[in-house]
Amino acid sequence: MNYGLDERKKELIEDLKAKGYIRSKKVEEAMLSVPRELFVPDDKIMYTYEDQPLMIGLEQTISAPHMVAMMTELLNLNEGDKVLEIGTGSGYHAAILSKMVGSGGKIVSVERFEDLAKIAEENLKKAKITDVKIVVGDGSLGYKDDAPYDKICVTCAAPDIPPPLIEQLKPGGRMVIPIGVYFQELVVVNKDEDGRITKELVGSVVFVPLIGRYGFKSERF
Ligand code: SAM
Repeated sequence: MNYGLDERKKELIEDLKAKGYIRSKKVEEAMLSVPRELFVPDDKIMYTYEDQPLMIGLEQTISAPHMVAMMTELLNLNEGDKVLEIGTGSGYHAAILSKMVGSGGKIVSVERFEDLAKIAEENLKKAKITDVKIVVGDGSLGYKDDAPYDKICVTCAAPDIPPPLIEQLKPGGRMVIPIGVYFQELVVVNKDEDGRITKELVGSVVFVPLIGRYGFKSERF
């Protein structure tokens, strides 16, 4: 059953534009072109275009559409960018990032759960997105093999910015990362051409924890 998904998608995107989460034509087009229903478990398809996170198994979530839009806008992505995502989850945000950087770009996405990485791979295949490299591992260590990155998008909350992510960000690069324990702030991290770091807090958010060497030690913070 289709549940009028295409209509609902258009309505949601208009709403995200009206609320200022989608600000650019490029993000609008990316969100219009990726069918979020392919990244949502079958029993939740009717909620695909509600602006809410949905459970995807292993106590993890696909982020709410407004959060995907907001983080994508904040990354200031360019055609051809190489992007590291930490927390593949369903693969939906990686799909949006892939649309943003085009065929000359590259998305590397790290997920700690092998089962989710497999599901994300299948979801991306269904969406005919073939240029996302999914890696199973501890994303708090980044992913050295493809470093440095133009942009880094962290989709789980860390206690602080993991040092390997700062190292693997190119000079002139940008990272968006939720930081905090119970109260999390979305932080935009810029690295200037001399390697200096500046941080800007852009608002309160709620994410599942980043679990790993430079993250939290357990799911309960
Ligand atoms: N970007 C995802 C999407 O579009 O569906 C949503 C990500 S979900 C909010 C956060 C993800 O981060 C979960 O899948 C979780 O397993 C993963 N995660 C947590 N700690 C991690 C780590 N150290 N390395 C990689 N992934 C991690």
